[in-house]
Amino acid sequence: MLNGGILNRACPQCDSRRHKPLEPYSVDRWHVVECADCGFVYLQDPPD
Ligand SMILES: [Zn+2]
Repeated sequence: MLNGGILNRACPQCDSRRHKPLEPYSVDRWHVVECADCGFVYLQDPPD
């Protein structure tokens, strides 16, 4: 796992790179996104 700077992390569930941001749920510097294919919600740049 690389240390930060990953802006297009693939969905951990289906490996899709299509997603939409969930701004209301993004806290501080964490970018929460929802997978456009399976609906899985995950962090674009999870902490170490
Ligand atoms: Zn997915």
